[in-house]
Amino acid sequence: MSTSTPSASAPLVGVLALQGDVREHARALEAAGARAVPVRRPSELRAVDALVLPGGESTVIDKLARTFELHELVTERIAGGMPAYGSCAGLIMLADRLVDGIPGQRTFGGLDVLVRRNAFGRQVESFEEDLAVAGVDGGPVRAAFIRAPWVEEVGDGVEVLATTSAGGAGGGRVVAVRSGHLLATSFHPEITGDHRVHALFVSMITG
Ligand code: GLN
Repeated sequence: MSTSTPSASAPLVGVLALQGDVREHARALEAAGARAVPVRRPSELRAVDALVLPGGESTVIDKLARTFELHELVTERIAGGMPAYGSCAGLIMLADRLVDGIPGQRTFGGLDVLVRRNAFGRQVESFEEDLAVAGVDGGPVRAAFIRAPWVEEVGDGVEVLATTSAGGAGGGRVVAVRSGHLLATSFHPEITGDHRVHALFVSMITG
């Protein structure tokens, strides 16, 4: 993992900058060797090699994506093979199927999973856990969950990378998945200063 300034040949990764923790993702991407740019316009989206969908509030991101005329283009680029990583609200935005959304809420889709919005929120608003994440070497990842969704069903070709270990209704839940060019986590690795999940994503772009 590089912590120096990314070179001009490093992949250009957009961070969807409609709402949510954009700056934290940009920092983590740069620490992982990518170049990061905010994406608010269709022209900016067309220019990037890959896209991060940040945590925040999926209902707001959905509304603003439609207002900024980004919804269809994001959907198209994901369907066309652009690598994308979604954390928390970003996981919701990547899901093909959503439960407990608000009426009319749409996602970009692409990831063959069923996601339950605010799933952990019924027991606890937020919590942290050390998680073993497949594909991330060097010990567990400190995972911060904030009104987080979980993945309730995974389709063929979706690899489960991590599940929660706590007991009770929140234990044994799928919280990190990968499917081809798409990566998603229920938690927020961008806020802990550990950039290994972003490094995994950058390695998916550079292949
Ligand atoms: N509950 C939020 C949503 O529905 C997600 C929370 C988060 O991204 N931290 O979008």
